[in-house]
Amino acid sequence: MEFWFSEYQSKNVKMSYRIRMQLHREKTKFQELAVFDSEDCGRMLILDDVVQLTMKDEFVYHEMMSHVPLFTHGNAKKVLVIGGGDGGTLREILKHPVEEAHLVEIDEGVIEAAKNYFPELSVAFKDERAKIFCEDGIAFIKDKKNFYDIIIIDSTDPIGPAVGLFAKEFYNNVYEALTEDGIFVAQTESPFFFSELLKRIYKDVSSIFKYTNVYIATIPTYPGALWTFTMGSKKINPLERTVDKIDFDTKYYTPEIHKAAFVLPAFVKKIISG
Ligand code: SAM
Repeated sequence: MEFWFSEYQSKNVKMSYRIRMQLHREKTKFQELAVFDSEDCGRMLILDDVVQLTMKDEFVYHEMMSHVPLFTHGNAKKVLVIGGGDGGTLREILKHPVEEAHLVEIDEGVIEAAKNYFPELSVAFKDERAKIFCEDGIAFIKDKKNFYDIIIIDSTDPIGPAVGLFAKEFYNNVYEALTEDGIFVAQTESPFFFSELLKRIYKDVSSIFKYTNVYIATIPTYPGALWTFTMGSKKINPLERTVDKIDFDTKYYTPEIHKAAFVLPAFVKKIISG
């Protein structure tokens, strides 16, 4: 049955979608999970009334979360995703010649929903290089030292179990878990609606990593559409890397987009410098 679903993008702004049908709803151990079939955006994954992905624009987020750090590194063998239980980021990572890609998702319900309703994303789980852990990423990372070339934080907003994924102590543990030329990327929300959070994360990451850079992409179904990613790198200067060519299909990412993504609007520069 048709209905409208609205997400609060801030306290005073809502974005609404015409939904053809609710395909699934459950209360998992960690959150309220829903899968909708929407009129213009296709299938959507919703957690606690917040849009996690839509089939219309998921490729932008997942390609930018993965290809930017992987091409910046250039030789990643072991990659870790924390969160990302839908499988989209993992799918993109596995387009690279990595040896192992680990995914740590706290909520098994998200993984099951992805398998049942988002086969285009969860296809990644079948790759023999992929290993899935249903655990809290914050605890998982604590005893890992000098192990991963890349760590990607594909988390929900900083509420509930994800709060600790935005903490300085966690970033310190991520640093320790990375190899000597390791790179970390986190989704760091909307510069329009979460500027204080972005500012704080940039400050924390800069105090730990040699290089800290913010890059951007346009994701229409996320608050404000303009989305930020914060990268911390131990040794490689991301701005000195150029990507010549890519030998797989993408829908958003190109070598030119890679370079351009690090060029920030004046107001974003101000947020992170202030
Ligand atoms: N692209 C999305 C966005 O920006 O809205 C994120 C998608 S992905 C579904 C986020 C996942 O992070 C959720 O499935 C959630 O269960 C997981 N998550 C939250 N806190 C976590 C934690 N502490 N450890 C591991 N996974 C966590």
